[in-house]
Amino acid sequence: MNVLAIGAHGDDLELFCGGTLARYAQRGDHVTMCVVTDGRGRPKGDEAEIIAIRKAEAEASARVIGADSVMLGVPDGGLWFDPPTRHLFVELIRRTMPDVIITHPEHDYHPDHKTTSRLVMDAVQIARTANYPSEYAPHRKLVPVAFMEAECGIDFNPEDYVDVTPVWEQKLQMLEQHRSQLMPSIYDPNFVMPKREENGFYHYVYVLGGFRGLAANVKFAEGFRWWRAASRIVTYRVLP
Ligand SMILES: [Zn+2]
Repeated sequence: MNVLAIGAHGDDLELFCGGTLARYAQRGDHVTMCVVTDGRGRPKGDEAEIIAIRKAEAEASARVIGADSVMLGVPDGGLWFDPPTRHLFVELIRRTMPDVIITHPEHDYHPDHKTTSRLVMDAVQIARTANYPSEYAPHRKLVPVAFMEAECGIDFNPEDYVDVTPVWEQKLQMLEQHRSQLMPSIYDPNFVMPKREENGFYHYVYVLGGFRGLAANVKFAEGFRWWRAASRIVTYRVLP
């Protein structure tokens, strides 16, 4: 099947569903990892250089599991729910023809996360519409939409779980490609990635993945909720 994961920022997919994407890839599904923003919002520095670094990091992470990497090129903090941006999402869905979409929950903390979620829910419906002006054919399939973890798991009660214990090392390797997320300055040539036990990524996923694993009777798990709406409910298991 075709899996389309859409995260607002460079490391979101790895943090919240990287293990699940690894498991999809491992069983032979085609995975597209889309990062909506291009990274120029946070670190100080030359915008073109930051964008190039973040793009290279996203591509390196996708390579760990053999996924495709796509960036929509919207500035961080500059993502709006407007017709041109919704069009980008519709075209992405039509082009990649997903059987499932994974994205942020709508109530998440960051405006880019919230807006990404809302854009996905609208675009997935518009992507079916026959008369919508587009470079691509309508994607008629009724695509289920899964919401991955909210930041820090806050107010997020999963209803479906994926055991990511067998791909835990891959999840960590994917995350570790996003070196610039941990750098105090993007221009620090002497930056050495902190040891796993001492870096923020490791602590974050160990605690969250371990907690979800506790609920699912495995060592590490990722939790999901489903968008309950007409045309989005299916009777078969979609997650790996
Ligand atoms: Zn984010």
